[in-house]
Amino acid sequence: MAQRNRHLPLLGLLVLCASCSPNEKLDPVSQVEPAPGDAGAEPDGGGTGNDDDLFATLPEIAPTATGRGGAAATVDLRGTLAAIEILKKGGNAVDAAVAAASVLGATDPFSCGVGGGGFMLVYLAADNKVVAIDHRETAPAGLAASAFYENGAPIDFDELVTSGLSVGVPGTVRGWSEALRRYGTLGLDDVLQRAIRVAETGFEVDRTFFEQTGRNLARFQAITSSKALFLGPDGAPWPVGATFKNPDLARTYRLIARGGEKAFYEGEVAEAIVAAVRDPPVEPGSTLTIRPGVIAASDLQDYEVRIRPAVSTTYRDYTIHGMGLPSSGGITLALALNLLEGFDPELLTPVEVLHRYLGASRLAFADRGAFLGDPEFVEAPVAGLLSKDYADARRDLIDLIKAPTEAAAPGDPFAFQTDPSPSPGRGQGARGRSAGPNDAHDNETTHITISDAAGNIVSYTCTIEAEGGNGIVVPGHGFLLNNQLTDFNIPDDPTAPHPNVAEPGKRPRSSMSPTLVMKDGKPELALASPGGSTIITTVLQILVGHIDLGLPIDKALAAPRISQRNAGSGSSDAETAFLGTPEAEGLAALGHVFSDKNTSGGEIGAATALRFHDDGTVTAVAEPVRRQGGSAMVERAK
Ligand code: GLU
Repeated sequence: MAQRNRHLPLLGLLVLCASCSPNEKLDPVSQVEPAPGDAGAEPDGGGTGNDDDLFATLPEIAPTATGRGGAAATVDLRGTLAAIEILKKGGNAVDAAVAAASVLGATDPFSCGVGGGGFMLVYLAADNKVVAIDHRETAPAGLAASAFYENGAPIDFDELVTSGLSVGVPGTVRGWSEALRRYGTLGLDDVLQRAIRVAETGFEVDRTFFEQTGRNLARFQAITSSKALFLGPDGAPWPVGATFKNPDLARTYRLIARGGEKAFYEGEVAEAIVAAVRDPPVEPGSTLTIRPGVIAASDLQDYEVRIRPAVSTTYRDYTIHGMGLPSSGGITLALALNLLEGFDPELLTPVEVLHRYLGASRLAFADRGAFLGDPEFVEAPVAGLLSKDYADARRDLIDLIKAPTEAAAPGDPFAFQTDPSPSPGRGQGARGRSAGPNDAHDNETTHITISDAAGNIVSYTCTIEAEGGNGIVVPGHGFLLNNQLTDFNIPDDPTAPHPNVAEPGKRPRSSMSPTLVMKDGKPELALASPGGSTIITTVLQILVGHIDLGLPIDKALAAPRISQRNAGSGSSDAETAFLGTPEAEGLAALGHVFSDKNTSGGEIGAATALRFHDDGTVTAVAEPVRRQGGSAMVERAK
C-alpha cells in the first residue's frame, strides 16, 4: 500500500483557464487534499466484498485471484475494481474493459487515456470467434514527408516526443464506442460513470504516480496546462498520499457519456485538441523547444476504427491468436513460436530453452524490422512470415551452442507467400533501422485482461506511447496527448524506403500484443504487457515459461525477464533479478551478453493474464512487483 501522509494542508486551488474568458472561474484543474484514513481493507484474497459500492471500502491489492464468474487484472486496484463492478452489475467483458480503461485514464494518466489509442482483442464465446479492434492513432492528412526532419536530419528524438508533431489522431474514444456498439451490452453513458467519479473525487497518489510525474517534471514545467494539472503550487509533483483530482477529465468524460464519440471528435474537445497540437501551451520563459503539429479538425472527424481478424498460429497443442498489422505483435510472436516449435523442451535444460527463446526472438525481430508496417500502405508478406515452412527454413540460423555477436539479417518470406504474386512493395526496402530509439520503453502503456461469466474475454492494450505521452495536457480537458507518431521509423536518410516510414493517414507500426491462447477449442490463457518492442518478448517469454518450462502462469509472469530484439551486438536486455541466476550463468557460458535494464531505470513490461482452468475456475494474474504491483480480482472468490 502507498505510504500515507496525514499532514498535508488542504489546498483547494482555484485556477483560471487559459482558454476561457478571462473572468470565468473554473473548477480546480487539480487539487490536493489530506490523505484519507485507512480504508479498512478487506483481506479477501482478491475477491470483492461490498456489492453495493465496491469502491466504498477498497480491498487490499492482490496480484493473483482465483474463482468463478468474471475476472479482471490490471495495473491498478481501481481499474480492476471498475471492471468487476461492471461485471457484477451484469455487463460483459467488453463493457468492463472500457470501464477499466477509462478509470485507468484517470488513475494511470501517464500510460493511457482518451488522448491515445490501442488494440483490443475480443473473444466472443457465443460465436467462438476472435476479433481485433484497431483504434491505433493515425498520422494526420496534412503530415508532410519532411515533417520529422530539419536541415536534412531527423529532429532530435526527445524534442519530437514533446511536440505537436508526434501526436497521432487519437483512436481511444472511437475504439471504446465501436467496441461497445458491436460487442458490449452497455453504452458509454453507463460505463464511464465510475471513471467520472474517480476523476472527480480523486484518488491517493502512490509511489508509481509520484515517480511518473517526477520523470516528466522538466516538460510538465514547460507546458502550462500540464503544470497546472500534475504539479503542485511549488512546481513539484503531488506527494505520495495526497488526493489527486482531475475535474477537467471528469467533465470530458461527462461530455462523452452524454454525447457519445461525437462529443470527442467534434466540438469543444476536438477544438481544444487541435489548438493544443497546433499551438502548444508553452509556459512563458520555457527553454524547451516544443514544435507545433498539423492535426486539423477534419482529421478528428474522419478518424476510423478498424475491425480486423486476429493473426493466428498453432504452437504445440495450442492455438495462439494475436494482433495483426499495424501491430507487429501478433506476427512477430507467431514467427518466434513457429521457430521454437521445432525444439522439444522435454529434451532441453531451462538454459537451453532460454537460449532458443532468445535466438527465435532475434530472428523474428529481424523480419519485423524489415517488412512490417500499416497494411493499408504496405504489402507485408504476412502469409510467408506465418508459414511453418518459412520457420523451418530459418530455424537452422539459431546456433545451438553459442550466442550471436551481431544482428541477424531478415529472410525472404516473399518466397513463402501462398499468394504467388504479392508485390514486395516498400516492404522489400529494408534499409530503415530495425529499431528506433523509440522502440523500447519501460514505464508507459498498460494492459487489461478481463473475462465474464459467459466466457467472453478481452485482452486490451491501451497507450499514449511514451510515459506521459507528448507531455501536453489538453487545456480544460484533463488528458495527455499521445506521441504515437514516434513509432514510425525515421531513417537518417529521409528518402530511404521502409515499410514503417510516416505517411499521411498511416498508422505507425506497433508492438502491442494482446494475446489469446486456446487449447482443445477452449480459451486457456489471455495475456499481454506494455513495454514498447519488449512487449513481444515479454509475451513470448511468459508463453515459453508457462508452456515449455511448465511454470504456473503467476510464476511465468513474475519470472525475471530477458529480451532479445536483434540488437547489433547480439546482446540482450535483462532485468537485474535475472542476472546472477543459474540461467544467467548458463547463458553467459554460451556467450550471451546482457545489459542490465534496471540500472538504466527500467523493468521489462508490466503484464496481466487470465488462466482458464478445466474445472471452470479462472485465475487472474497481475505483476506482484513491477510497477509496484498490479491488481487481480475475480467476481466470486473461490
Ligand atoms: N507505442 C508502443 C507500441 O505501440 C506502445 C507503448 C509501449 O508500450 O511502449 O508498440
